[in-house]
Amino acid sequence: METFNRYLILMFEHMVLTPEKINAIKSQLAGLSPDAQQEKLQEIVATLEPEEQEQLFGKQQCPFCSMAEGKIPVNKVYEDSECIAILDIHPANKGHMLLFPKKHYAMMAQMPDDEAGRLFAAANKLAKAAFEALNAAGSNIIAGNGAIAGQRAPHALVNIIPRFEGDKVVVGWNPAEVDEKEFDSIAAKIKAKIPAEKPKEAPKPVIKKYDTNEVKRRVP
Ligand SMILES: [Zn+2]
Repeated sequence: METFNRYLILMFEHMVLTPEKINAIKSQLAGLSPDAQQEKLQEIVATLEPEEQEQLFGKQQCPFCSMAEGKIPVNKVYEDSECIAILDIHPANKGHMLLFPKKHYAMMAQMPDDEAGRLFAAANKLAKAAFEALNAAGSNIIAGNGAIAGQRAPHALVNIIPRFEGDKVVVGWNPAEVDEKEFDSIAAKIKAKIPAEKPKEAPKPVIKKYDTNEVKRRVP
């Protein structure tokens, strides 16, 4: 039996490529692991016409955009004017939530800073709610920027994973040793690419137009 990673299934259900092309893509992906499917799909997508790519990843066909528009049923836990949070259907842990902007962004890095800021403010609210509602002992707030960082969805999103004593969730890396010189140069390179904050415009002095008659009346 063919098994597909859930995002691919959602895409297949909502894309409008010709059935022949869909079947050709499916046959290339069948039998691969979910991660390998994701990689292979990226290779295939690179060979598609721009219109077809748009059909796959454009606003109408992105499963997360469809969820935000209410076209795909979801278990919604939060919504405001800019973002929505749902329960992940394949959770890493009880209460695993996916928070994403209603507007389509292929990855977090494409979001304007103010929108990303409000998205993370919502993530903080959800994490706090999980502490209270699920008696979580902690939580991980994770956002992958790009496939190499583990981003599997075609739409920017934040994972909020409540953590419990003795759970089996793995989030980690092996800390490496650093070379002091390289360490400094990395910091310098990063600093150089952070745009300077625009100086806030000084408030313009309010020039009151006096009613000369009023002034005259006050003068004894
Ligand atoms: Zn989208």
